[in-house]
Amino acid sequence: MNIGYGKQTIGKDDLNEVERVLGSGFLTCGPEVKNFEDKFSKEVGSKYAVAVSSGTAALHLACIALGLREGDELITSPMTFAASANCALYCGAKPVFIDVDEKTGLIDENKIEEKISEKTKIIIPVHYGGMPCNLEKIKSLADKYNLRIVEDACHALGAEYKKSKIGDCFYSDMAVFSFHPVKHITTGEGGMITTNSKELYEKLLRLRSHGIEKKEDWKQEMVELGYNYRITDFQCALGSNQLNNLKNFISKRREIAKKYDEELGIESKLELIKEKENLFNPYHLYVIKLQNSELRKRLYDFLKEKGIFCQVHYIPVYLHPYYQSLGYKKGLCSSAENFYEKILSIPVYPLLKEEEQTFVIEKIKEFLKNN
Ligand SMILES: *Cc1c(COP(=O)(O)O)cnc(C)c1O
Repeated sequence: MNIGYGKQTIGKDDLNEVERVLGSGFLTCGPEVKNFEDKFSKEVGSKYAVAVSSGTAALHLACIALGLREGDELITSPMTFAASANCALYCGAKPVFIDVDEKTGLIDENKIEEKISEKTKIIIPVHYGGMPCNLEKIKSLADKYNLRIVEDACHALGAEYKKSKIGDCFYSDMAVFSFHPVKHITTGEGGMITTNSKELYEKLLRLRSHGIEKKEDWKQEMVELGYNYRITDFQCALGSNQLNNLKNFISKRREIAKKYDEELGIESKLELIKEKENLFNPYHLYVIKLQNSELRKRLYDFLKEKGIFCQVHYIPVYLHPYYQSLGYKKGLCSSAENFYEKILSIPVYPLLKEEEQTFVIEKIKEFLKNN
């Protein structure tokens, strides 16, 4: 057995599309980019979408587009991949971490207000594992203090919050997605920003390509400092075709999650993260909680020995050595630290076979019985 916690699904149809575009004459800056963007914005219900080279590039551009700069503060969750906070550092701004709800790992919306200062510009809520944050509450705070919201939706393609699809930006200025192979759809590396603002859309397009605007004939003027965060046409062809399969991918993930809920929900030594009412979780991750870090480590080792490779999502961002060197201290977000001690992400991806999942469940039960 060799089972990871997550993995891409690449079909013959994906290969055909990539091959077609590789032979088409446009490797980059061609029609497939706009095709993918249009298809994506239609899927999530936003007016505009801008495809870029990674989720990290998407976060960076979103922050620049909102004018984040030195001296500003950006509020986010520590229970995330470092990129959600690094985008503040790229702009010379300071990430301010809000503690999480220890049950769900989501940013605790009731602890945000006390950390808002004169310097706060942006809130980046992270839909951890695929479960949407309390966007209504976060939007009401943003309105009250005139802050912008960029959703880190890298786990949440296909998620729904009440009547809203994540990515439709009903509660936010922009939403950011990643197409890294472990995410819901992949382009190898890649990302997307969605928005309903024409102004932000045009700015993002410019920033993606050096800050250069096309005028007439040979005239291309660089009007601001941008980057090369472009994505290729063959990646976008892959992304478009992957989107065709999104519904299947998500229903497979939810099927797997449902079986875990049923089989592992009866284990008294485990705590699961329940899907909340009015939310739709596409399960980027399936996270179980052990009673303590020692038990978690032993289960991790036990499963690894059986060929089941789990992961821990995440070490609270500010505990990374680099953030420690910036002066962030252990104890800053105690619930996030407690949550981190107990969690383990077990396999969930569309190609996980039924007998493989049964094996995973059996091994977890076997461990719990003897520990
Ligand atoms: C994957 C991920 C990112 C970064 O995306 P890349 O495409 O790998 O740059 C950012 N935030 C979260 C929460 C992620 O899971």
